[in-house]
Amino acid sequence: MSVETVQRSLQNILEAISNAITTSPATKKCRLVAVSKTKPAELIEACYIKGQRHFGENYVQELEEKSAALESKASDIRWHFIGQVQSNKIGKICGSPGIWCVETIENEKHARLFDTEWSKKEAAQTPLRVLVQVNTSEEDNKGGIELSEAPKLAEFIRKECRSLKFDGFMTIGSFDNSHADGVNPDFEKLFRVRQQWAEQTGESADSVELSMGMSDDFLQAIQQGSTSVRVGSKLFGAREYKNK
Ligand SMILES: *Cc1c(COP(=O)(O)O)cnc(C)c1O
Repeated sequence: MSVETVQRSLQNILEAISNAITTSPATKKCRLVAVSKTKPAELIEACYIKGQRHFGENYVQELEEKSAALESKASDIRWHFIGQVQSNKIGKICGSPGIWCVETIENEKHARLFDTEWSKKEAAQTPLRVLVQVNTSEEDNKGGIELSEAPKLAEFIRKECRSLKFDGFMTIGSFDNSHADGVNPDFEKLFRVRQQWAEQTGESADSVELSMGMSDDFLQAIQQGSTSVRVGSKLFGAREYKNK
């Protein structure tokens, strides 16, 4: 897609998000995380120029390359890591300039490793935001912690990980649920897990994010309380995966 096409679709998506917020019974705010995986830095810059700040990548190597390429041009860019975490890549994620949030924490081990790694950085005065990824659809091929264990992991991060800031819950959800009409059970489960966490801790549910909704279902996700939608193909066009 051309720069102009992407900029136009950015504007359309932002308008659709604002309209959805006005009719949503479940949220009053929602940000766009532009998922740029497989897309070149020039298209990211095209969105940045139009005011977009949050971008998501799910491959560590792409995050490293693009964050380095854009470091000087886009100094206040906010990168979200949304891919599956591997222990041996945590250093690279933390070392990527502009890393803002890791959305895919699914166990205590990874939380601890991120905590240690981030505490070594000068930037550690600002904690690294992390989301607890929840496997709401209970599919083996989806990452995330079991629903019933999610509030406990959130509390572990808040209590034990001083360099991290627990910032909410994230789910991918099942393909079928995403393409069915009406209320999406994955979004409902994530919404309830945040409620449960809030009741258990006495914190306000609105103080943390709900990251749910992608290209095909972000408007429905906003109706169900999403505060952060992750949109890729609808913004940047379909992804092509070259054989390596
Ligand atoms: C790729 C990806 C997205 C964006 O998917 P689209 O359907 O292209 O919008 C969102 N979240 C995660 C975790 C992804 O890996």
